Amino acid sequence: MRIAFLGLGIMGRPMAANLAKAGHEVMVWNRSAGREVPGATAAASPAAAARGAEVVWMCVADTKAVESVLFGPQGVSDSLAEGMIVVDSSTISPRATRDFAARLGARGVHYVDAPMTGSKVAAEAGTLIFIAGGEEATLAKLQPLFAAIGKQVFRMGETGKGQAAKLAMNLQIAVIYEGFAESLTLAAKLGVNAETLLPVIQASMVRSGVVDYKAPFVLKRDFSPNFPLRLMHKDIGLMLEAAKEARVKLPALETVEEIYEVSAEDGLQDLDYAATLTLLEKWAGVEVKGASA
Ligand code: NAP
Repeated sequence: MRIAFLGLGIMGRPMAANLAKAGHEVMVWNRSAGREVPGATAAASPAAAARGAEVVWMCVADTKAVESVLFGPQGVSDSLAEGMIVVDSSTISPRATRDFAARLGARGVHYVDAPMTGSKVAAEAGTLIFIAGGEEATLAKLQPLFAAIGKQVFRMGETGKGQAAKLAMNLQIAVIYEGFAESLTLAAKLGVNAETLLPVIQASMVRSGVVDYKAPFVLKRDFSPNFPLRLMHKDIGLMLEAAKEARVKLPALETVEEIYEVSAEDGLQDLDYAATLTLLEKWAGVEVKGASA
């Protein structure tokens, strides 16, 4: 298929590369220059990339970025064609998603929100999990593309429901990780090292995939960004906004949001969200260590 892939960050770049590797004709665009993708051709603007494409796939930072890629100067909307499919794998507002879909739908374009789970490692391995909203027939047409970059696609319902489900899921990741970080901090203060505690956590009913994924990085104190703190902070903002609109109270998440706010003020925003641990350590006057540390 002819694909325009827009946004070549931590996630987008390997996704575009895997689409090209699967034999699709891929035109790529990124806001800042210098991000090449093996097997793909670079375009000068979203409009140039989208011209003649069957599918336009976006993976950019946030709601404002998606709006500007679609409707800004030299945006995708300058190159729309009837029957084109626009897919958004960024995590953005469900309400804005419905609005974008309606604006493009009026011009005969099908819109699918397909935010994903799985981090940098899954993007590189082509094993992402997509949480999609959109028409079943459109999703069926996208099947070969999903197969090239992911291992599963869950359809949540109509457009916007993918983003809603993704936010509900990421809420748990944010809260579970903070629980894990607080647990390690308390243990360290009480003289129990992390490497000794981890097998107990993972043998018990509290075992979690978040801990499986994050613990090795925490033990190595490798806080380089897999999922940058600023993006999880953005997601938490989206969750709280959606909760306010739906009149739902989320007290645990509100507290976690405060931790992210202080972390950002402390300059941690470009590190992985796992670095929120270092704020807890600072407050406690302790550092979480593995047995060997
Ligand atoms: P990233 O590495 O920070 O990349 C962000 C991308 O968005 C870059 O290509 C950036 O362009 C572009 N961008 C930012 N603002 C823009 C604007 N105003 N107009 C056009 N392009 C803009 O982020 P990422 O980790 O790839 O994440 C991308 C999306 O996937 C986010 O919505 C994130 O929440 C979601 N996500 C991430 C993960 C993860 O583990 N990393 C997992 C699931 C979902 P420049 O290069 O010019 O800055």
